[in-house]
Amino acid sequence: MIVDTTNSDSDLNETPGSLPTRPVRNESKNAFFVDPNEPSSDGADLKAIEGAVRTILAAVGEDADREGLLETPARVARMYAEMFAGLHSDPGRHLAKVFTEDYDEIVLVRDITFTSMCEHHLLPFSGKAHIAYLPDGKVVGLSKLARVTEEVARRPQVQERMTQTIADLIEDRLSARGVAVVIESTHSCMTMRGIRKPGSLCLTSAMRGVFRDDSKTRAEVLGLINHSA
Ligand code: ZN
Repeated sequence: MIVDTTNSDSDLNETPGSLPTRPVRNESKNAFFVDPNEPSSDGADLKAIEGAVRTILAAVGEDADREGLLETPARVARMYAEMFAGLHSDPGRHLAKVFTEDYDEIVLVRDITFTSMCEHHLLPFSGKAHIAYLPDGKVVGLSKLARVTEEVARRPQVQERMTQTIADLIEDRLSARGVAVVIESTHSCMTMRGIRKPGSLCLTSAMRGVFRDDSKTRAEVLGLINHSA
């Protein structure tokens, strides 16, 4: 089973082939509806971030009190709380509900888009994750793989660790016979500063179980991920 999420724009249901887009966030603290799938940003100290942003603005030579910047520290604080909300929740919770299914072929969800923050520069990197697993009697709702990716991404990250974390979670929680995670992304810290190489793509992969041990099975899953099968 292969799910290509490229043109998916559906809601939160679990129908194969339709992955959820991000739910509309209600900014109100007294919001009636709290999506339990969204990581909570309550753990962030907004006031402390605001102060730090003001300090940085002053330190680079800006006037933090000029009109255009007045609301910037509070805005950046809310943004950081959102980008790093994954620090305060366990992404594995999305894999808690599994279904017993007599399906022993590859399950692949391709092109799961994400944006994370590089922990070395606090600049975004974004791209796509492709997640495949070979079930051993336990399968999970397809959208959950996207949920896991989203939540693992929402913390200071390096792409290598992100790839491994996702693979380990799926191997562990689903007792899968094999897990393959491939992530391709563009890093702002490489395109807009330093070496300045726009268009460069960083590719990482993590193979577990049969995908690591058996070259034929690994070639099969990589073929599916690369659209060549
Ligand atoms: Zn970086």
